[in-house]
Amino acid sequence: MNTLMRWAITHRGLESYFSSLMGSYVTVFTLHRAEPEDKSFNGISESLLERCLRYAVENGYDFMSVDEVVDTALQRKKVNRPTLCFTLDDGYADQVNRLVPVLLRYRAKPTIFAITDFIDGVDWPWDAKLAYVIKHSPLTQCDLKLGMKTHHLDLSTPRARIESRRFVTSHVKAQRLGNLSDYVATIAAACHVEIPHAAPEDYRAATWDELRASEAQGLAIGSHTRSHAVLSSLDDERVAAELDHSKRRLNEELVRPSQVFCYPSGTKKDFSRSHEKLVKAANYQGAVSTISQTSYLRAIRQNPYRVTRIGFPTKFEQFVRYSSWFEALRSKLPI
Ligand SMILES: [Zn+2]
Repeated sequence: MNTLMRWAITHRGLESYFSSLMGSYVTVFTLHRAEPEDKSFNGISESLLERCLRYAVENGYDFMSVDEVVDTALQRKKVNRPTLCFTLDDGYADQVNRLVPVLLRYRAKPTIFAITDFIDGVDWPWDAKLAYVIKHSPLTQCDLKLGMKTHHLDLSTPRARIESRRFVTSHVKAQRLGNLSDYVATIAAACHVEIPHAAPEDYRAATWDELRASEAQGLAIGSHTRSHAVLSSLDDERVAAELDHSKRRLNEELVRPSQVFCYPSGTKKDFSRSHEKLVKAANYQGAVSTISQTSYLRAIRQNPYRVTRIGFPTKFEQFVRYSSWFEALRSKLPI
């Protein structure tokens, strides 16, 4: 980022002029896993997260929990200062034990969206299983027959494995109606990997005790379904069951769960208007997607079941830009 650009996007006067013109907005970030020791995927390091939070505090940002963001929008209130909101998806142990403590230290009001069957030890997420299979395959190449088509998977380098993981994840996600575990099993067999019944240490879920201890220190915990199945791959009855069961488990285990739901995967293709209605019918106050835009309070008031979020970046300069009025402007442009 050049100096002029950095000056403009961090300029408080420009920011307040922009928000007086365009209305209040909040940058809601999505954080996935903490950076793994073997760097086998792009996780977030504690040092980067800390640097970003220090920048936010030093530059006068406010922090809001996602429930506060939805409430503020529904009550037609404004935000007086540029505001950030931090959410984490899935409920892995490394998120709760490594990233959440940093967020809590800065009083950043984080919310984690947990897959309740994962926390309950019933099963581990299908996308984590695929990541495990691709990481541990002894093969360098693999021909994978899915349906009528044969796909060639390159497993010869770490980079190629990342690409292959992306391919199988998006392919499986696109399958309709509940045969997800069959697809995962087919891919595991083709890659010569046996999937362990319980999640291995690298993919361990947080426990309810760990979540409760963090809840006592200010972490909010919300539903990310029971199984992590993408809603568009399920029939309505199964969607309603995922919404109800996960909500019940959170209410049984925690003091005050978040009233906001988080769509698995969460892109425009992964849920529909009718899913938004099912989320509302299950008594959630709002829902977050992974549609990558700054969230305007006016838009949340109009539809609290499609709150947009921006993926937390792996570079500090990107964090500065994503948190700025410039990104809020970009979110208004038809690109
Ligand atoms: Zn997820």
